[in-house]
Amino acid sequence: MTNLILLGPPGSGKGTQGERLEVQLSLPRLSTGDMLREAVKNGTDLGQKVAPIMKAGELVPDEIVVGIIDERTQEPDCSGGFILDGFPRTMPQAEALERMLKARGTGVSQVLNIAVPDEVLIDRCVGRRLCSNKDCGAIYHVKTNPPAKEGVCDKCASELVHRPDDRAEAVQERLQNYHRQTEPLEDFYQARGVLVNVDGVGAPDEVFERARQALAGGAGGSGGA
Ligand code: AMP
Repeated sequence: MTNLILLGPPGSGKGTQGERLEVQLSLPRLSTGDMLREAVKNGTDLGQKVAPIMKAGELVPDEIVVGIIDERTQEPDCSGGFILDGFPRTMPQAEALERMLKARGTGVSQVLNIAVPDEVLIDRCVGRRLCSNKDCGAIYHVKTNPPAKEGVCDKCASELVHRPDDRAEAVQERLQNYHRQTEPLEDFYQARGVLVNVDGVGAPDEVFERARQALAGGAGGSGGA
């Protein structure tokens, strides 16, 4: 069982690298951000509750995301392990995950910590455009990876959108939250011997190659706790 966590600030490439790792490792990628955005889009009770929080770039309450991950990781496709993208993001979430997995006789195998300086992150988020078609999910950047036609997905011709929380003020808020609430997780997982650091600056393929090598030779392993 391989339970991999992707750790890194907003815009560090967790989604992009997670998609590649999902294919390489044949494990499902569970993104709390994607799941919450889906709930917002569908207007569920949960979606209505979290929409203003997400729009402001703040974190939704721990018990909500812990509940989502608790349920989702018990689905059959997670029986061989999973990749967590965007969870845990606070110490209480990391502790809840540890308890949850321990009760199931497993644990966190490796934590890939993607490091990118703040100024690069702000530029990436502010210029990021996403395909609005969930089945496509292509990611663009207005400067470094623009679509052939502005605002239109090259792959499926759907409209491209700028996430409300990718606007400059919300990105600043998300980065501050990251430094304050999520960065301490690096020490938590370092102490458990499962932290693997990777430099996240560069083209997605370059970073993926670095990540692959770091995971193969790095801390942790494919085992359980
Ligand atoms: P992401 O797509 O991972 O950047 O997540 C987008 C937004 O969803 C975040 O800014 C939070 O508002 C919310 N969110 C996603 N994952 C979590 C989490 N583990 N804890 C709290 N809030 C989360």
